[in-house]
Amino acid sequence: MTKALLIIDYTNDFVADDGALTCGKPAQALDGYLASLADKFYLNGDFVIFPTDAHRLHDPFHPEAKLFPPHNIIGTPGRDLYGQVGKWYGEHQNSGLVYQFAKNRYSSFQNTNLDNFLRERNIKELWIAGVCTDICVLHTAIAAYNLDYEITIPRAGVATFTAHGDEWAFDHFKNSLGATIID
Ligand code: ZN
Repeated sequence: MTKALLIIDYTNDFVADDGALTCGKPAQALDGYLASLADKFYLNGDFVIFPTDAHRLHDPFHPEAKLFPPHNIIGTPGRDLYGQVGKWYGEHQNSGLVYQFAKNRYSSFQNTNLDNFLRERNIKELWIAGVCTDICVLHTAIAAYNLDYEITIPRAGVATFTAHGDEWAFDHFKNSLGATIID
């Protein structure tokens, strides 16, 4: 059965030391694993999808404007995918198995056609990775659960700002969303 790997928000702003909203070292530590996981999916004929925040610079009406500094602004290097993952995307983006989805909310399904895209390809199994575990990964996993997808979350593929946030999110993935956790 065809499956898809979602690598969420793995951009310079969320990952690099000088990123606008960075998770820092814990996020940087995922780079090699995510690039090799992407390769594994790709070589198996599965899809690799990059749901990526796309914000406008001056948008006081967006709810995140009250919560976070400006990040992933359209057209800035901060929105470019980070490191080896970014390089991997550059090399595979035209392969027919690799897609970037611009999103403007925490959930990768909100205001995007990701659900249609997956259903058209008969994809029911999702691996969800990237950052941040307890924000965009969590909201995407909840949406995926409500849309009846089977969810797998690799511990080595997600990171967030606090250990507490990570721990809480994994309890929720496992106990409330029925996700398979890869330790
Ligand atoms: Zn955002």
